[in-house]
Amino acid sequence: MYTKVWKVDKYVDNLRNNPQVVDAAHLLQENEVVALPTETVYGLGGNAKSDVAVEKIFAAKGRPSDNPLIIHIGDKKQLTAFVAEIPNKAEVLMEAFWPGPLTIIFKKKDGVLSEKATAGLETVAVRMPDHPVALALLEKCQLPIAAPSANSSGKPSPTNAQHVLDDLNGKIAGVLDGGATGVGVESTVVDCTEDIPVILRPGGITKEQLEAVVGEVHLDAALINETSKPKAPGMKYQHYAPNAPLYLVNGSNTFLQRLIEEKQAEGLRVGVLATEESVESYSADVSIACGKRAELETVATALYETLRAFNQEKVDIIFSETFPNTGVGHAIMNRLQKAAGNKVIEE
Ligand code: AMP
Ligand code: MG
Repeated sequence: MYTKVWKVDKYVDNLRNNPQVVDAAHLLQENEVVALPTETVYGLGGNAKSDVAVEKIFAAKGRPSDNPLIIHIGDKKQLTAFVAEIPNKAEVLMEAFWPGPLTIIFKKKDGVLSEKATAGLETVAVRMPDHPVALALLEKCQLPIAAPSANSSGKPSPTNAQHVLDDLNGKIAGVLDGGATGVGVESTVVDCTEDIPVILRPGGITKEQLEAVVGEVHLDAALINETSKPKAPGMKYQHYAPNAPLYLVNGSNTFLQRLIEEKQAEGLRVGVLATEESVESYSADVSIACGKRAELETVATALYETLRAFNQEKVDIIFSETFPNTGVGHAIMNRLQKAAGNKVIEE
């Protein structure tokens, strides 16, 4: 299949009548799948009401069929069509964080969305993305759009249109290229079907931010204890992995430098995921600064691009610094642990 690439300037007025957006919206109405920029990562969108469209999403990504998709909407009014009830706390969270990187789990109304989109669950995950191109597309097509990240399953999520093409060229109808995304890690997934909201996946909105507007918020047991079964089916899979084995290093820069030297002595080509503050202190074959440690948001923004960059450099092994598990650091560490398959070296 030929994959169209539509360049769109996200700053122009009246985006919903932009010819590229109109073309992409038509393809969505015809149950084709197209990649679109959001504020977190690029999504692979398809009509959430159509089994045909949803099957195309799973097939293009090679995504396991038991991993449900997040439904994207451009207007809160769309919710009542497929959500059974909107609890008070969900209302408060939507008011505070939509559009934005927060996905809310609701009880589902049956018979509206494709069962394949929700993987047969009684609940549905919904968010409103904060990106002018995504919002214009949603408004134009007037459909709930199922959109997982637009990468091959297991690979790092795409933060620009080239990453999407690297994985999915020839497998999808098109990509709306609206430039690089901002937040860099996916949305926070919060379950609002119980009295106290529960974070199932850490992401762009922190626990502290949620608590400031709804009070007590819990973490899914699987985020605290690796042996618990995660409530978000997708959280059980290894994800975001670069080609070379990745090890997280809990220790000083000198300790990490020693590990690099050991592996180089064995003849391996070594990569290190560092930060702007530390990158000069290593003698690795490929040292990449993934943002600034003093501003963790910049680490989130650069994370997937950095993981993909190691693939271009053909390293044999990658060591990564670790980050504090608070604020957006929680999402960064969650993604790094998945990318590393939980391989951690302690000093
Ligand atoms: P992705 O679309 O790749 O960013 O992943 C979406 C995440 O949301 C995955 O971890 C899914 O398992 C999770 N998710 C989607 N729908 C539900 C749901 N109804 N209940 C719990 N988790 C969900
Ligand atoms: Mg994903």
